[in-house]
Amino acid sequence: MSYLALARKWRPQKFEDVIGQEHITLSLKNAIISGRTTHAYLFAGPRGTGKTTTARILAKALNCQREDKSMHPCNECNSCLEITCGSCLDALEIDGASNRGIDEIRELRERVKFAPASLKNKVYIIDEIHMLTEPAFNALLKTLEEPPPYVVFIFATTNPHKVPLTILSRCQRFDFKKISNQKIIQALELITKEENINMDYSALSLISQAATGSLRDAQTILDQLISYKKTDITKEDVLFLSGRVSFENLINISKAISSQDKVSCLNQINEVYYNGIDLEQLAFDLLRFYKDLYFIKISSSLSEILEVSENELDTLLEESQNYSLDYLRNIIEYLKKLHSNLKETDHSKLILELGIIDLIDLKDKVPITQILNRLKEVEENFRENREKGSSFSIEEEYDNFASSEEISSLEIIPSLNLSEVKKGWDLLLERVKKKKASLKACLREGEILEINNETIVLGFQESFSSKIVEKKENIEIIEEEIKGVYNQELKLKIAIQKKNNIRKEDTANLNYSLLLDSEPIIKETLNVFGGQIIKVNKK
Ligand SMILES: [Zn+2]
Repeated sequence: MSYLALARKWRPQKFEDVIGQEHITLSLKNAIISGRTTHAYLFAGPRGTGKTTTARILAKALNCQREDKSMHPCNECNSCLEITCGSCLDALEIDGASNRGIDEIRELRERVKFAPASLKNKVYIIDEIHMLTEPAFNALLKTLEEPPPYVVFIFATTNPHKVPLTILSRCQRFDFKKISNQKIIQALELITKEENINMDYSALSLISQAATGSLRDAQTILDQLISYKKTDITKEDVLFLSGRVSFENLINISKAISSQDKVSCLNQINEVYYNGIDLEQLAFDLLRFYKDLYFIKISSSLSEILEVSENELDTLLEESQNYSLDYLRNIIEYLKKLHSNLKETDHSKLILELGIIDLIDLKDKVPITQILNRLKEVEENFRENREKGSSFSIEEEYDNFASSEEISSLEIIPSLNLSEVKKGWDLLLERVKKKKASLKACLREGEILEINNETIVLGFQESFSSKIVEKKENIEIIEEEIKGVYNQELKLKIAIQKKNNIRKEDTANLNYSLLLDSEPIIKETLNVFGGQIIKVNKK
């Protein structure tokens, strides 16, 4: 006895048995029961999702001889049986890819004119309708515009956007969805049970992942596994046959990368390599793995769209803690290039090993675009501050930059400049007055000298007022109000000045300026940014 492929053996014969397309089969069933069927249907959607299967069920339901319409198709009457075995001349399946020309469609138009021989309705199922040529579509359109009452067209396509609008507008359209992994697993579970095949859940899960939403693909893989090994099919068998890398391997490689363990990383790759797995596949599986990790890092709510089991999801969530979002993004960009490089080389092991080492080193690297963006910001800050005439410290900006772990998430809290501090000062005095009127009177004698390192330096001539302001409890009151006015935690430093004294610091700054001005590198930097030295911070 010849072996019947599972996809054929297990092809659904009733609307209720079509998996994952309940939104479609329910409408069709209701249309049959209420007698509200139409002359042209378009079934659009990915391959292996049940389009032609549903079309055949619909063909039977439209012709079923059973009185009770809710039973359509009954799969028992002559009409149903004839259509099921494919011997019926009134229910024809045409492959649009190989019958795409005007002549074939003209012939079809001629045949359409004859009333059905045995069925109630003549049903034409045209698969891959988008493959028809333009003249063929035009010829078809004429029939669609004035169809004989007994004709029903069911068009199926994986590319509905390639079907002309004139055709689309005359069809009732149904969009088939990719079938979820869970539903594929359930369908496979049923088949393996009925076929007496021992298979654990993780093996079924792997098949469903490889099938990417197509039940037919899943059944084909299962077919291959059965002919490779009659029963007791394990996860390893699926991996071996599909040539995919196991989740354990991927997570081990990831752990080696995140912990920057180059030795372990290379050992892992060797293990995969000597297990006979194609290294291009490894790069692709790594890419998919890091995509999952990246999505989970963006939001754990995205886990629903990932093709992973619950256990794997937990492991991924844990592993994502070892990466920053930027690092993951960089890894993905790098793996994309690595994957395409591997296609063009005869030295895939060498390229992959070096590539993985690069991935580890990527951790400390910041992409050039981010550096350029940051430099632009620094430059803009610099210009702005210079225009406002306040002090600006490149060194400080650089320190912020270098110490920021995640450049993309680095938000520069705009540091206050002197004029901004001065702008808010009257408001501050008013607020201090409400707390302690006498303190305000003393405080107003001070002059704001600078704002630096989150400290406002307030200069006073040595006086009674300066002594009042300097008191700890008063400083605390002022700092509290500063926070209210400037929305920032700033310290207040009181500098007591004696009249006509130039501060030592100013002299030092002046000397440094002269010194640095003569340094070529500084000159070049000033040139690039169009800057000038305003202040030098000592190390
Ligand atoms: Zn029937």
